[in-house]
Amino acid sequence: MERALVAAACRVLVARGLADGLLGHVSLRVDDDHLLVRCRGPEESGLGRTLTADVRLLTFDGREAAPGELADGYTPPNELPLHTAVLRARGDVGAVVHAHPAAVVALDLAGRTVEPIVGAFDIPGTSLARGGVPVFTRGVLVRDRLVATEMVAAMENRPVVVLRGHGLTSAGSTVQRAMLQAISVDRIARLTLAILAAGGQPVPLASADLDDLPNLGDALNEAAAWRHELARLNTAPLERDGT
Ligand SMILES: [Zn+2]
Repeated sequence: MERALVAAACRVLVARGLADGLLGHVSLRVDDDHLLVRCRGPEESGLGRTLTADVRLLTFDGREAAPGELADGYTPPNELPLHTAVLRARGDVGAVVHAHPAAVVALDLAGRTVEPIVGAFDIPGTSLARGGVPVFTRGVLVRDRLVATEMVAAMENRPVVVLRGHGLTSAGSTVQRAMLQAISVDRIARLTLAILAAGGQPVPLASADLDDLPNLGDALNEAAAWRHELARLNTAPLERDGT
């Protein structure tokens, strides 16, 4: 079930345009030294074709947590330290999403940040943007513990950090939350770029209106939002995968 959730999240990343091709991964904490993470096997055909079998149980050091987890030519992601550094540093985090959304990268390279420029358009996204979406200014692969620790520091305990020239990392208590956060940040980035392209100036919504936005009740709305993400993926499940 949990493996199927991680696999479905990978497919949602592609369906929502946050990932293209092979790059990106989702992880889920099992305990303080184990995680489920999307790995690559010999039949790798892209993030959008992720199957439950592509999600493997590893230790935080990238070793197989049980015999066979890295059998069949499977390997952990190069950027596994990106996931484990967040999980190690933040006990509140249960899941990590990493992707390379072009709009988010373009927004940062254009000298812009993710701001609460909208209101009722996307209330959870606005709330996230209002609290700040920091930027990790190194454009490198996060493949060792040192760089990953720098990224976690740049993240400043916020839900999402933009990785300059690279993508984003989203951390949530659940896979669903981490995913929905990433989708919101990408949506606001696209909107900001569209406003700029139309000759407008994106500015934060007035504080009074931001203050007036209701908290919609996270758990209930997240459950519905996630069902929607799964429903819009495809009505025909992938072969050999029941999600
Ligand atoms: Zn990456």
